[in-house]
Amino acid sequence: MKKQNVCILGATGSIGENTLDVIARNADRFRVVALTAHRNVARLAEQCARFEARLAVIADPSLEDELTAELRARGANSEVLSGPEGLASAAAMDGIDVVMAAIVGAAGLESAFRAAQHGKKILLANKESLVIAGEVFVAEARRSGARILPVDSEHNAIFQSLPAGFEQGLDGAGVEKIILTASGGPFLDLPAAELVRVTPEQACKHPNWEMGRKISVDSATLMNKGLEVIEARWLFNARPEQIEVLVHPQSIVHSMVAYRDGSILAQLGTPDMRTPIAHALAWPERIAAGVAPLDLARMNDLSFCEPDLARFPCLALAFAAMRRGDSAPAALNAANEVAVESFLEGRISFDRIHRLVAEVMDRVAVEPLNRLEDVLEQDREARRLARQQELALQ
Ligand code: NAD
Ligand code: MG
Repeated sequence: MKKQNVCILGATGSIGENTLDVIARNADRFRVVALTAHRNVARLAEQCARFEARLAVIADPSLEDELTAELRARGANSEVLSGPEGLASAAAMDGIDVVMAAIVGAAGLESAFRAAQHGKKILLANKESLVIAGEVFVAEARRSGARILPVDSEHNAIFQSLPAGFEQGLDGAGVEKIILTASGGPFLDLPAAELVRVTPEQACKHPNWEMGRKISVDSATLMNKGLEVIEARWLFNARPEQIEVLVHPQSIVHSMVAYRDGSILAQLGTPDMRTPIAHALAWPERIAAGVAPLDLARMNDLSFCEPDLARFPCLALAFAAMRRGDSAPAALNAANEVAVESFLEGRISFDRIHRLVAEVMDRVAVEPLNRLEDVLEQDREARRLARQQELALQ
């Protein structure tokens, strides 16, 4: 079997590390060719040495020499690049078959888009790319023949529960709606009055999943589910009214598809990102992921309820942005990134995250997005507004 050549954008993060773990278990199928990181030189050098990567990219250009030195100290002779151009080169590199897009936030858009322009098989973890540039991104992938395989566990579950050819339209496939499940995060049962006092450490301690800090905060506000609703719209060519959210605190049913005849198909599994990563890597085949099997006989409580939008206003803001369309989701995402960073750095309290996003959404001008440049411009404008509002809320 010909090995698939893999590039991992964001190799040192939670998804990146899990991807390398799955690849190490399936070394007969995959070859790691390019790895990238933001600033974690030591870890990136270690990974490049272990997997004998041909290309190492550090996003922060000031760390390029340090990376070269670390690599040589470990006996690795990977070529070194840096900055946005380095990330783009890794994503577009000749001979790469698969690009895992696992950078966090809008910072991951340009390199993921580059993979779409070059017709790569894109394993998409960076949901923000589709939230801010959905229509442009999907159109580019269609033009180049790039295939987008969802890694986000919910979207991977939906992909597994949809029939082949769903891209032509969910109606033709007999689909009534897509149901995304949400764990509800660490504060599902916390009295609302206490949300003002929660710390970044508490917000990042998810009951079921271990993830990077930004997505952990998003899971606590339920903005993560809001971003996923918008992601689902573009991945599955769904109309806004075809997407629903259900709270399912156990995170065993990863999402569902409801059909016209009353059937609901779901994908279940132990909450471990290596399952959707392995699925996307090997699709349409199946490979070992190192994941503990699900013991259904020990599971006597799988519960579902509707989300409380008053308690989790970020979810309502995301649904509203999806319905407004055009650049509204891009503005929502940018405002949220600014708000989450501000919370993680101790400048605003947890319960101000949604207020900051709401203020930006009230003020921002929504414009059509036709090209990647329009998207980047809207992202910058919304960040500028968000920083103004941040000062007002401190
Ligand atoms: P993380 O913070 O653990 O890792 C992020 C990676 O991106 C790191 O390798 C980091 O070096 C790199 N990075 C960060 N900022 C960068 C920048 N400005 N330029 C270039 N590289 C940069 O994040 P994560 O939890 O692995 O999440 C990655 C993406 O996957 C996010 O979009 C997240 O929403 C999505 N996702 C994650 C999970 C999960 O379980 N962790 C699940 C579903 C989806
Ligand atoms: Mg998810």
